[in-house]
Amino acid sequence: MTLSVRNAAATAALGAALCAALSGCGGGGAASGAAGQARLGTPAAPPAASSPASSSASSPAAAPPASPAVGHGPGKAPTLAPGPNGLTPVFERARQQTEKTVALTFDADMTADQGPRAAAGERFDNPGLISTLKALGVPSTVFMTGRWAEEYPDQAKAIGTDPVFEVANHSYSHHAFTSPCYGLPALDGAAARADVDRAFAAFRKAGAVNTVPYFRFPGGCHDERALRALAGSGVTAVQWDVVSGDAFAKDPDAVAAQVLAGVKPGSVVVMHCTRSAAPVTEEAVRKIVPELRKRGYRFVKVSELVGT
Ligand SMILES: [Zn+2]
Repeated sequence: MTLSVRNAAATAALGAALCAALSGCGGGGAASGAAGQARLGTPAAPPAASSPASSSASSPAAAPPASPAVGHGPGKAPTLAPGPNGLTPVFERARQQTEKTVALTFDADMTADQGPRAAAGERFDNPGLISTLKALGVPSTVFMTGRWAEEYPDQAKAIGTDPVFEVANHSYSHHAFTSPCYGLPALDGAAARADVDRAFAAFRKAGAVNTVPYFRFPGGCHDERALRALAGSGVTAVQWDVVSGDAFAKDPDAVAAQVLAGVKPGSVVVMHCTRSAAPVTEEAVRKIVPELRKRGYRFVKVSELVGT
């Protein structure tokens, strides 16, 4: 996406936070080195051996096999086996890439220091988008920041108790887990793990119960150190293979076109659930959903893709 000069004020503050994810998150190049290694190189769990698709160099999106959820960590959902040396595994797109399934994911961004702006009237939520997803019957995964759940506890609870949705973790503070990352302030290793735990605690406090042990790095930025910092937390890191470009977008048709051009069987699409920084997302979704259905796609949560 392009940040217009006119929006410089908004972008200066929001841009760093909301990010990146948006434009930069999409590129994925710089951030995905170690991730790629974890994703591709996972000698992984024993069942991998029996999978014909396992670790083919020609399928970069191939992910380690799913394993049953372990006892710790929030929610019951399939997770991936840890990467080499126990690194947090990274999921990007379903291993099974023949069935026409697609997961729309919505990041509920809010940076730890944005409380005053919310108090001044800026809307980091998007209840209209959530209503539309429900009305259209689109199972979705919301990657929520802990700070967002604190700001909008009623919405966090409503989303987190509605079977249409599952709530995944997008950190508490929306700070960077490796640096540089679009100007976001960085957390060190111990603080990184604590930040993830704090987000899950915020979901619990709000009453969101449909949580899943998936974590999306703010801005998508991660490296081996970040994956190591979260090892043992039980989460699977979830990236994406389709960038919607909805951040600061003004044209819903352009967002829809970009998504429709990018979706493949088993895709994960990154979008945002934050009106002030992604104002046309709901409108884009209204265009995307019927068109993908017409093409034979079925909308699923990330957990269904991880489990197949
Ligand atoms: Zn984000």
